[in-house]
Amino acid sequence: MTLPPLFWKGVSLSRKPTFQICGKLAFLIYPLYAPGVKAIWRKMIDSFGREIDYLRISVTDRCNLRCVYCMPAHGIIHKQPSDILSFEQIYSIVKAAVGLGIRKVRITGGEPLVRKDLPALIAELKTINGLKEICLTTNGIYLSEYALAIKEAGLDRINISLDSLNKEKFRKITQGGNLEMVLSGIDRALAAGLAPLKINNVLLKDFNTDEIADFANLTKARPLHVRFIEYMPTGLHGFCADVLGLGHGSYDDIFLSAQEAKNICRSVGELEPVEQGTADTAEVFKIRGFLGSVGFISPISRPFCASCNKLRLTSEGRLRNCLHSSKTIDLKKAFANNNSQDELAALIQEAISLKPEFHNLPGHHKDEKNNPLVPIGLEAENFSMCQIGG
Ligand code: SAM
Ligand code: SF4
Repeated sequence: MTLPPLFWKGVSLSRKPTFQICGKLAFLIYPLYAPGVKAIWRKMIDSFGREIDYLRISVTDRCNLRCVYCMPAHGIIHKQPSDILSFEQIYSIVKAAVGLGIRKVRITGGEPLVRKDLPALIAELKTINGLKEICLTTNGIYLSEYALAIKEAGLDRINISLDSLNKEKFRKITQGGNLEMVLSGIDRALAAGLAPLKINNVLLKDFNTDEIADFANLTKARPLHVRFIEYMPTGLHGFCADVLGLGHGSYDDIFLSAQEAKNICRSVGELEPVEQGTADTAEVFKIRGFLGSVGFISPISRPFCASCNKLRLTSEGRLRNCLHSSKTIDLKKAFANNNSQDELAALIQEAISLKPEFHNLPGHHKDEKNNPLVPIGLEAENFSMCQIGG
């Protein structure tokens, strides 16, 4: 590659080796960011150098369960159906986002399988050139019914939330859920070929600590991948403690670190590390001789903001660039006129440019020594995960 001659104070810059190297790099990198370049080559880099390639989409704010750490005691005020994004609007947003560099989407909620015709949305999204992965997070209640249809529609990965293997405890934490339905949903999903199949387990001290080894043992003979997740503060810990009969209602009474869960898993067998991609939030291990894996996700004790690659789309069309920020960008306004694709792209880019460096959960960091956060009192708590899409 020959660089055009450039002179400064009569000296040819293009002769200088550093200039040549930088210039060549610029030539190589420019096509990745230039407007009009094919979607499959574009990348979105935020102000802190993170590549943003993952969009979580809440397709509904409704749910058929009432998990105590997610759903407020008084329930939530549901949006009117006319305020919820249509499948066509979701498709347009994903298309614009993929054009900018999004490569993976996760469909979530509320409970995504309560949204009518969800397989049709998956099939539509599957047609978007450049989108590499479509994933789903579900509570598994309707999974027996839908496993085959979502697999056939093109779903790539599935996460099933399950906090207890004990029927009574499951009923308590979900306020009425039926464990058998979730377990048969898992069987159907495996039979339909939905692999890898992950199980999300929210750690709650003195509620499911005694089941951590049982969850780890689920990975012994079946290709199940259990992810232990630290409980994030959403202002519901008082209610949560009350219903589950835990402690005195403070967040600390309920919080169990992923590190403690890892130590318990060590009693099940030797943990062999499994290499992960840079943006993966879990620290993953195989228990020696087991088929599946166990992973530990520590948003509180070891925040992973430095490698955060996510954007979140709420069911009514607001884009959130951080789970713990209430600042959102309304994408629905882009549908009001004809050039919505360009406008959507501009709004998505704006959300990326405003993405904060760290989430801000003052006073909730167990590993204070390594806590990079500055507590400036952002809008951290009192949001509902079922409305944002956890
Ligand atoms: N209804 C679906 C489900 O339960 O899988 C999808 C939506 S739910 C909000 C997504 C995930 O967020 C679930 O795995 C749930 O356990 C997790 N979640 C909800 N509230 C949480 C909290 N306060 N801390 C950690 N995880 C939470
Ligand atoms: Fe519903 Fe999922 Fe929230 Fe449970 S965690 S209440 S299943 S949205």
